[in-house]
Amino acid sequence: MMTCPVTKTCGGCEYISQEYKKQLETKEKRVRDLLSSLCPVRPAVGADDPYFYRNKVHWAFGHQGPHLIAGRYAEGSHKIIENDHCLLEDKECAEILSDIRDLAIKFKMQAYDERTKRGLLRRVLVRKGMATGEVMVVLVLASPIFPGKKGFIKSLLEKHPSVKTMLININTRTDSMILGDKTICEFGRGSIRDGLLGVKFKISPESFYQINHDQTEKLYSLAIEAAGLQSGEKILDAYCGIGTIGLCAASSCKDIRLTGVELNRAAIADAKENAKMNGMEKTRFIAADATKYMMDAAARKESYDVVFLDPPRSGTTPEFISACEKLSPKRIVYVSCDPETLARDLKEFKKRGYDPQYAIPVDMFPFTSHVETVCLLSNRKPDARVKIDVDLEDYYRIKDEQKKNKASE
Ligand code: SAH
Repeated sequence: MMTCPVTKTCGGCEYISQEYKKQLETKEKRVRDLLSSLCPVRPAVGADDPYFYRNKVHWAFGHQGPHLIAGRYAEGSHKIIENDHCLLEDKECAEILSDIRDLAIKFKMQAYDERTKRGLLRRVLVRKGMATGEVMVVLVLASPIFPGKKGFIKSLLEKHPSVKTMLININTRTDSMILGDKTICEFGRGSIRDGLLGVKFKISPESFYQINHDQTEKLYSLAIEAAGLQSGEKILDAYCGIGTIGLCAASSCKDIRLTGVELNRAAIADAKENAKMNGMEKTRFIAADATKYMMDAAARKESYDVVFLDPPRSGTTPEFISACEKLSPKRIVYVSCDPETLARDLKEFKKRGYDPQYAIPVDMFPFTSHVETVCLLSNRKPDARVKIDVDLEDYYRIKDEQKKNKASE
């Protein structure tokens, strides 16, 4: 087991003192306690390698005496914790961040002081497409005046050719939002690409994108497997972000017609571009509140064979669930990031004619208490009821074999 020198002060890893196997057991038990009265809970799907998974990392700048420092904020505070070797951050992202800090020192840049409101450097954000190796750097400044900017960028690019785009974000806000409203692209096309299950995605500085690439592929594969798609089916991806689940699902089966719904307009613009980039024409993405869209769709008597929903931690709404009853899809695949709200929503789904079939916890954030869950629900109406043909035994057998092969390499 690896150890971290700043465990006590940082507080980012609640489970750092537990063996990984034990962490998975704890998460599985939590999901089991909440859901086992509703449906069977399968073993938690863990990471092959639980370390260095974060593909999005940001550090804040500050001063210690006269020295410029950078690091992440301690949990629940604005105290900067310096640690160039975090066990969760992708190693290349961390290396780029520490080089940016060293460059800032070399260029004699001053950190922004939240109290006096003076100084320039606020934060730096690094995102990496794990499948493509492309890196994005966003330097968050308190003002657009950046003396020595050209030399700074040149030095960074020379050292890290994987940096494919660099942006400067101007943040004059006084709240704790990382990014301000104005972003200027200094180099590259302002976004990077990544791939999930063979589908390409464009990632902008602000887009929501899952931060653990390998576990996301497992999560989506389980969701798609649960959906049991058949060619020609119509699917809805609610709370779709930049369209990742829906586009991966649509690419897994012939002739799928996909609708994605999401509140964030920028994410919808990205989703549309993602569909185009992958040559997926039978898609439409709509910027709307998911509940409102569902209620309107039910009133218009639209039909969907499968509904995916991946809401934020607060879960979905009774109105969304009641609209599902009216739309009557054969299957619903709920991807949840909070088992408490999932349990609440599953009870409501049961009242509305959808029986949870099974749930699988997936560990997206090793060393933290967070747990994601995929749950399949099937329509109780006799003509809509479908055979559960997901071969989970097969899934775990293949995973075990892969693990054994990896161990013997
Ligand atoms: N499925 C995507 C995003 C999941 S995160 C992925 O896996 O990447 C949840 C998403 O729900 C966010 O993109 C958020 O903007 C969106 N969201 C939050 N409230 C919403 C609402 N009321 N209606 C529609 N989308 C909403």
